[in-house]
Amino acid sequence: MLYQRSSQLFAEAEKVIPGGVNSPVRAFKSVGGTPIFVKEAKGAYLYDEDGNRLIDYINSWGPMILGHAYEPVVQAVIEKAKKGTSFGMPTEIETEIASLAISMVPNIDKIRFVNSGTEACMSAVRLARGFTSREKIIKFKGCYHGHSDSFLIQAGSGAVTFGAPNSPGVTMGTAKDTLLANYNDLGHVQEILENNRGEVAAIIIEPVAGNMGCVPPIKGFLEGLRALCDAHGTLLIFDEVMTGFRLARGGAQELFGVKADLITFGKVIGGGLPVGAFAGRHEIMDYLAPVGPVYQAGTLSGNPLAMAAGLTMLKSIESDLELFRRLEEKTAYLERGIRKVLMDRNIEHTINRVGSMISVFFDEREVLDFETAGYGNNDTFKKFFHGLLAEGVYIAPSSYETWFITDALTYEDLDYTINAVNKVFS
Ligand SMILES: *Cc1c(COP(=O)(O)O)cnc(C)c1O
Repeated sequence: MLYQRSSQLFAEAEKVIPGGVNSPVRAFKSVGGTPIFVKEAKGAYLYDEDGNRLIDYINSWGPMILGHAYEPVVQAVIEKAKKGTSFGMPTEIETEIASLAISMVPNIDKIRFVNSGTEACMSAVRLARGFTSREKIIKFKGCYHGHSDSFLIQAGSGAVTFGAPNSPGVTMGTAKDTLLANYNDLGHVQEILENNRGEVAAIIIEPVAGNMGCVPPIKGFLEGLRALCDAHGTLLIFDEVMTGFRLARGGAQELFGVKADLITFGKVIGGGLPVGAFAGRHEIMDYLAPVGPVYQAGTLSGNPLAMAAGLTMLKSIESDLELFRRLEEKTAYLERGIRKVLMDRNIEHTINRVGSMISVFFDEREVLDFETAGYGNNDTFKKFFHGLLAEGVYIAPSSYETWFITDALTYEDLDYTINAVNKVFS
């Protein structure tokens, strides 16, 4: 495949945009080469600026669960756009999507819409701090909750440690309020809570981690967090930006039967437009302005085009009773196919999967947390990435990312992909 035009476009982009991209993960930093510029997409396929067709396993990092340019969403956005694109005043559609989301997701009475997953997580944490009158939060190493200051914190050493910022620009003052725990390590969380008695406002977690590759919670982990939160008067925040409306209609809460106090959304809930949201019980959500004291706002929040896309997406998911079964079956098929190839070829690997989230690590040890997620052989991953790309299969350009399976994929696409994996390692 040729990437002449993509390379030219990237060179031009680099002159006017830092690194040529508007979000770092789009650059090919960890795999080498230059990013591919997309021209258009339909269903399961991307078409790049050089005219190549690629089977897409990223799907805009999650939102396109029903495929690209999904016709009902496209139509809804076009019709809405004709009637005005932003008002800064309430509209009926905001109540419609709020009601639908609340009917689909367990344990939420009210929801507020924002413009990104970052905003949703940042606002949920502020609300949790305001509601509990506490300042500290616990987050897990390897979990991503957007790029707001409190979340860009790196591990120090020792069992209980204050975080140090892992980006310049994040102050030590902010970092000291973020406590870091190891994913899937309940004892560690308990220790941190006991050492900070009465000070921890919230624990925020990806109930299935998706930003260190796919790392599922071990049995009892989420239940254990729930019990610890109850014992310590700490709120449990499920960051379902990735898992919401993807793992089940009601997300991870439904899948694992564990209740969170606040839930954040993004990605699928916007149907491919910039939308985030956070939700919870009445008494917590009514702590928000204008009824409560915690301030949170947005000029474009609840934007009519974004709400039209999101509402249409949620309606499609809600009315398709077989969707999650199909996604499960397709992804399980892909998992089996890839595993068989890697076993036959004697390639060390671990495949983690929950529903339509899947990732391949090139190490045979179990991947349970950020440390074990780092065991994978990055040289093998690079070969895998570029090999698949040459075959017209696009996966995330980093071994720390999950693949997001779309319902638009056919079994022919999956067979093609499995065959491509075989070619890469032959
Ligand atoms: C993508 C993501 C975010 C951030 O969402 P943005 O819309 O990129 O700001 C937050 N949390 C999780 C779990 C995510 O996957």
